[in-house]
Amino acid sequence: MTRILCVEDEPSLRRTLGANLKARGYEVDLVADGTQALASASTQRPDLIILDLGLPDMSGLDVIESLRHWTATPIIVLSARDTELDKVAALDAGADDYVTKPFGMGELLARLRATLRRHAPSSEDPVIVTEHFTVDLVASRATNSDGEVKLTPTEWSLVEYLVRNPDRLVTSREILQAVWGPQYGTETNYLRVHLTHIRRKLEPIPAQPRYFRTEVGMGYRFTPSQGR
Ligand code: CA
Repeated sequence: MTRILCVEDEPSLRRTLGANLKARGYEVDLVADGTQALASASTQRPDLIILDLGLPDMSGLDVIESLRHWTATPIIVLSARDTELDKVAALDAGADDYVTKPFGMGELLARLRATLRRHAPSSEDPVIVTEHFTVDLVASRATNSDGEVKLTPTEWSLVEYLVRNPDRLVTSREILQAVWGPQYGTETNYLRVHLTHIRRKLEPIPAQPRYFRTEVGMGYRFTPSQGR
């Protein structure tokens, strides 16, 4: 059974979320603030977390940062603050997706299913070895000469998609739709933020990417062997 932790201080929205998720067969934990969210996440081990950014006791961004110290559980953020900066900050802190209030329950549920699908374990996949790092698609881990490289769930999804398409120009729209869902396509800022982090973690010289290259105005290309 898939377990969802919902963190929302507004009682009516919390009830609505709980009822809709339970009606679709999810097991649901409902909490109203950041402290309870962190406690519930560690004891209940949810499969996905829906997190309101505006909480009474602490900022949702702080909740994300605390969670990311120890768990890769996907996080979908809810917020009334419809600004580009908040979206980037939440993604930057490790959120996987973002829904702006007011939202339709159908939209949230579609995002939730897409996020769960992206994090479903896959098998029968190879290991990609480069001069500087190795990506094991079976074990879902990246390693370099220092050991395991910690990637957030979204970073991992991007790396996985790009390394499955070696030497191919993958457009921003294609990556967004593959990783975030079919309704995405223009949010290239998502990609820029995450690619910056990925390069910091995997590239020998992050400012001069050799493996995860930007094709200006087009998209990205993973080049596992020699450069151009
Ligand atoms: Ca709130």
